[in-house]
Amino acid sequence: MERFVIRTFKHSNLIRHSSFVIRYSLVCVCLWLILAFLSGCDSRAEVPTSDPPLVKHALIVTIDGCRPDILLRANTPNIRELMRQGSFTFWAQTTALANTLPSHTSLLTGTPPEVHGITFNDDGDGGPTIYPNVPTIFEVAKSKGLTTAVFAGKPKFTTFTRPGAVDWSFITPSKPKQFIDDNIIAARAAQVIRMYKPNLTFVHLAATDIVGHGGYYWVPRDKQAWGSNEHVWCVERADAAIGMLIDAMKAANIYEGSLIIITADHGGSGRNHGPNDPRSRFIPWICVGPGVREDCDLTQIRKLTVHIEDTFATACYFLGLPIDPKIMGRPVMQVFDDPEEPLWPPPLTLEDILKRYTGAL
Ligand SMILES: [Zn+2]
Repeated sequence: MERFVIRTFKHSNLIRHSSFVIRYSLVCVCLWLILAFLSGCDSRAEVPTSDPPLVKHALIVTIDGCRPDILLRANTPNIRELMRQGSFTFWAQTTALANTLPSHTSLLTGTPPEVHGITFNDDGDGGPTIYPNVPTIFEVAKSKGLTTAVFAGKPKFTTFTRPGAVDWSFITPSKPKQFIDDNIIAARAAQVIRMYKPNLTFVHLAATDIVGHGGYYWVPRDKQAWGSNEHVWCVERADAAIGMLIDAMKAANIYEGSLIIITADHGGSGRNHGPNDPRSRFIPWICVGPGVREDCDLTQIRKLTVHIEDTFATACYFLGLPIDPKIMGRPVMQVFDDPEEPLWPPPLTLEDILKRYTGAL
């Protein structure tokens, strides 16, 4: 009898256990279905595309090591004019690593370093070139029949020139290691823009970062650091280089109706930059193109943070290129007017801000 009771107890326990497993499984399935539904509703899972393309030509310029507040202190007439014509924020974010090659790879692939795999920042002197794990915007553009051009002031940028990806390029050579100044890089790019009108041109201006690190040959080292007068001067020279590129686009008759994005890969302080430092993490982001809101500070949009990966997606959107929904970057659609969601409070215009500085307001 005792044995029977024990067996009965075990049997009923088994039934309760089975019931629990079934109910637990049902809850898990329901939760999975709900999560799958919610992820389908997540706006980051949806990628807007433009068909036909909004532009035939795009120019992306990075000022290496350009901290936003230093850009605002500098006398930069060309960048100020682009701000008047377009939308911008001085609170865009680069990668957590906040150094040159990983951040540029995120900018040009729309993915974070743990996905694209370029987590190192070496110049790669003499070694084999390592390419990202995912396609760059140059490869995406080439796959759709567009032409591409890359001009860069550091030898490590060969990581973006996978064979077949770039039609025209000039990258500072690694041997003998030498630095090519911003005006030379811009002149090379301007020449190609005038002659060939690439659909996508990327220009990297290195001098601002080199002065930040104290490595600029033509200035005494003890005068060089992030935020020094020489650093501000280099941002102004980068602005002059951007002026050369704009002049070339105007000469080639492709300035009107093109996309232009001016941004950076990281900021810095003292003589360095890197993780866990807001002075390294924030970057300027300025966007001019057809339909883009003029003189519009995107910082007014509370829920918007522009990430460095969004530059890839925004350029793809304007050029009508496909965007893999699995990547992190998304087009910054807030650059366009939205009658249903007007900016509030209305953004100050640059003219308003300058009037405040001059006491006229
Ligand atoms: Zn850099």
